[in-house]
Amino acid sequence: MTYAELANKGILTQPVYEPGKPIDQVARELGLDPAGIIKLASNENPLGPSPKAVAAAARALQEAQLYPDGGYYVLRERLARKWGLGMDQFIIGDGSNEIIELLGHAFLAPGVECVMPQASFVVYKLVTLMFGAKPVEAPLASGLRQDLRALAAAVTPRTRFVFLASPANPVGTANTGEEIVELVRALPDHVILVFDEAYSEYLDQAPDLRPLMAEGRKIVCLRTFSKIYGLASLRVGYGYGPKELIAIVQRARQPFNVSAVAAAAAVAALDDAEFVERCRRENRAGLAQLGEGFARLGLEFVPGQGNFLLAKVGDGVAVFDALQRRGVITRPVKPYGLPEWLRVSVGTREQNTRLLNSLAAVLGKG
Ligand SMILES: *Cc1c(COP(=O)(O)O)cnc(C)c1O
Repeated sequence: MTYAELANKGILTQPVYEPGKPIDQVARELGLDPAGIIKLASNENPLGPSPKAVAAAARALQEAQLYPDGGYYVLRERLARKWGLGMDQFIIGDGSNEIIELLGHAFLAPGVECVMPQASFVVYKLVTLMFGAKPVEAPLASGLRQDLRALAAAVTPRTRFVFLASPANPVGTANTGEEIVELVRALPDHVILVFDEAYSEYLDQAPDLRPLMAEGRKIVCLRTFSKIYGLASLRVGYGYGPKELIAIVQRARQPFNVSAVAAAAAVAALDDAEFVERCRRENRAGLAQLGEGFARLGLEFVPGQGNFLLAKVGDGVAVFDALQRRGVITRPVKPYGLPEWLRVSVGTREQNTRLLNSLAAVLGKG
C-alpha cells in the first residue's frame, strides 16, 4: 500500500500554498546581494514592528525556559478591554491562520459546504478541503468587488461557514458596513459567518459586527498581528465571537499554541497606538503613491483599501519574474484565477519608487 492510500483524503486535496519568497532565498537563487532586494510580496509592515513590542518580546525571551500561560490571560484581558467584550469571547492563535484551522476542527466535516467569494484568501479553501468539506465560490462583481448577495445566494442547507474578508486579499476591495449587515441578516441560523479582519486597521471606519453578535447572529471575527502591528514572524492572531462559539473552538486548541514572546509582543503592540496610527498614515500615502504611479504607467489597478494593490500588468507571472531579477519581489496572483494581475504590497516611499521604476523598465515604459 502507498502512503497516499493510507493518508486522510482531505490532506491529498490540498492545493499548494505558494508564499512570498524570503529575500535570502531569492538572493541565493538569482545570485543577488540580499541587501539590494526589497520584498513587497506578503503585505508585511514596511515600518517594521513597534519598538515597544520588540522590547516586550526581548523581556519575555529572558524567561524562555518557562511554558507560556496557556490561557494567554494578559493578552485576552487586554483585548477584552480594547473591544468591550468578555475575556471568554477571545481565542489566541498561532497567526489568525491557525484560528481558521481550529474553526475547521470544530465545525467542518465531509458533507458540509463553505461559501466564499471567488479569489478569496487561499487558506479558506485549504482548511475546507482538509476536513473533507466542499468549497463553494460565489462570483465577483465588476471591478473585482465582492458580491455579498451572490455570497448569500450560494448558501444551502449544507453550508456551515461563509468566509468573508474585507478588505479582501488578494483583491484588496472592501465591502461597506451596510452590505455586510445585509449579508448577516440574510444568513440562515445554521450558517456561521467567518469575518476576516486582517486589514481592518487600514480602514478609516471598519465595520463593527459586535452589535450583530450581541443580537445572537452567528459570527466569528479574525484579527492578526501580522499586518499593521508588524509582527508576522512571531505568528500571533486572535478570534472573537459569542462565548459559546469560542468555548467550542478552544477545545481544538493545543495548550501552548502561541509563544510567550509573541503574546508579550502582541500586548505591547496593542498599547502602542501612536505606532499604529503612523503605519496607517504612511500606508495611505503609499497607496496614493502606487496608484498615481500605476496610472502614469497606464496600468489599470483595483482601488484596494488594505496595504497592497493589484495592478493589471499583462502576464503577471512574467512581470513578477522580471521584477524579481531586478531584486523586487512581488506576488503574481495567477493561482487565484487572476493571471493578468500582480499584487504589490505598500512599501516605504523609497521602496514604492523603486518598484514603480522597475515596473516601468520591465514594461518598456522607462
Ligand atoms: C495575512 C492574512 C491573514 C493573517 O495571517 P496570520 O496567520 O495571522 O499571519 C489572515 N487573513 C488574510 C486575508 C490575510 O491576508
